[in-house]
Amino acid sequence: MLVVMRNDATEEQVQAVIREIEKMGLRGVPMPGAIRTAVCVLGNKGPVDAALFLALEGVKEAIPVTRPYKLVSRETHQESTVITVGDVKIGGGEPVIMAGPCAVESEEQALTIARFVKKCGASIFRGGAFKPRTSPYSFQGIGEKGLKILEKVRQETGLYVVTEATDTENLAAVEKHTDIIQIGARNMQNYSLLRLAGRAKKPILLKRGMAATIEEWLMAAEYIMSEGNPRVILCERGIRTFADTTRNTLDLSAIPSIKEASHLPIIIDPSHAAGRRDYVIPLSRGAIAVGADGLLVEVHNDPTHALSDGMQSLYPQQFEQLMKEIERLKQFL
Ligand code: PEP
Ligand code: MN
Repeated sequence: MLVVMRNDATEEQVQAVIREIEKMGLRGVPMPGAIRTAVCVLGNKGPVDAALFLALEGVKEAIPVTRPYKLVSRETHQESTVITVGDVKIGGGEPVIMAGPCAVESEEQALTIARFVKKCGASIFRGGAFKPRTSPYSFQGIGEKGLKILEKVRQETGLYVVTEATDTENLAAVEKHTDIIQIGARNMQNYSLLRLAGRAKKPILLKRGMAATIEEWLMAAEYIMSEGNPRVILCERGIRTFADTTRNTLDLSAIPSIKEASHLPIIIDPSHAAGRRDYVIPLSRGAIAVGADGLLVEVHNDPTHALSDGMQSLYPQQFEQLMKEIERLKQFL
């Protein structure tokens, strides 16, 4: 149930609605909008009687929410959410480019790539310090040392940074050093991690699980929002199908599906979707044309010697080319 307040409703009237919801043993979460506030009723197992709310002052209407997810749903928040990181706006109309290596390997490597992607027009630097790897014998990331390097990247280049928290043990450290906390595909349904991310004070970049439906993905975002963090960016990074010429299959239809179902921004990671660098530019073009709010792209100064995901990392010149193409595409669109 969504209790929509009149546009002249007072804060006291909003609080009275929340108290009424709490008396029923449920939770009421205010959702301020550009024109009016709505209060979302959470925790009900069956339908809630709308008449109870319509009798309260300042209430315009009470509408049932038909989707299993509430806070992430466009039913409860019609305007698209714009997530602000410093002066960068994700979901604000202009695609935001996040670029960098799969993993932070050294200060020199990170700074070299960061300076380059900044020069080409990226606004956020990506790079894993803690790496979730399929094999326990593969490079696992340089951990806290990598987080300190990301701080340095921010200071030296002015780029904001996004890096992954791989478990509940490293989330606090990641939160301290990064501007955006990434939750990876393998952790999309790690509910204790999602709840912790929901209590963090930084935006969360939530990747789609490799076999997750749109609904499961949005329910994962709901975990984060239900703990009080409204700043969630969704990231499609390819799903498992029977296609075997790519690492995963990029689901571009996730963009309109998410835009219809949710108010949250959605970005595309063409690198983990393709698994090969020669497909990254065409998939990026497609993503921008379909309406993605941004891209998360792997770039490396020396991909053949990268400690992870070298095959899908763009060479610097390819990234430069991609940025030029995006610029032209934006003008065309
Ligand atoms: C990554 O972006 O570094 C990553 C590990 O991606 P994913 O979780 O999508 O596999
Ligand atoms: Mn990677």
